[in-house]
Amino acid sequence: MAAEGTKSPLRRLREYYDEAEPTCPACGYVDQATGWTGRTDGQQVSYRHKCPSCGAVQERELDVCRD
Ligand SMILES: [Zn+2]
Repeated sequence: MAAEGTKSPLRRLREYYDEAEPTCPACGYVDQATGWTGRTDGQQVSYRHKCPSCGAVQERELDVCRD
């Protein structure tokens, strides 16, 4: 297990979601422009994406602290 020193878990998650293009489950639109919006309360990160085509909202919740 390499220590990722300068990168926080949130930062790594942001990078992951920066790579992942949100695909709308409702209409299939792939949003390459907007991406996910991240938010954290210190224990969980919520990622949210609103489809610019049909307005459907997707949310993902991830635990930051897993130790
Ligand atoms: Zn959609």
